[in-house]
Amino acid sequence: MENLCKRCGEALCEDGTDVKVMTSDLEVIVVCDMCQRPDDVTCDDSHLIRMYSDALLKARGKQVTGYHYGKPFMGNIFGCARIRDSSDMLVTVVSHDNVYMINSSTLYNGGCDVYKNLHVYL
Ligand SMILES: [Zn+2]
Repeated sequence: MENLCKRCGEALCEDGTDVKVMTSDLEVIVVCDMCQRPDDVTCDDSHLIRMYSDALLKARGKQVTGYHYGKPFMGNIFGCARIRDSSDMLVTVVSHDNVYMINSSTLYNGGCDVYKNLHVYL
C-alpha cells in the first residue's frame, strides 16, 4: 500500500523526511515535511504512546468504535488500568451488550488480530 500524506494526499517520499505527529486532538498521523504544523507533537513512538495513555486515563465515558472479530461495535470507556511491568494499559470499553478489554497500544495502533479499525473519540 502506498503511503500518502494525511494532509495534502501527496505520496510520501521514501527518504525519511515524512514525520509521524500527534495533532492537537490526539490523532496520530504521518505527514510530509511540508504539512507539519506548529501545534503538532513530533517524537518517537514510545513517547507518543505514553502521551496517548495519559489521555486515555482521563477519557472515561468517551466513545470507542471498531470491529471485534469482524463485528462492528460502539461503546464507551469505563476505565483504564495500568498493566504491571508494561507501558500499556488495559482499557475497558462497555457497549450495550458486551464488555471489551483492549490494550492501549492496540487502540493506539488502531487494531490487531482481534480488533480492527479502532477509533477513540477523545
Ligand atoms: Zn503533505
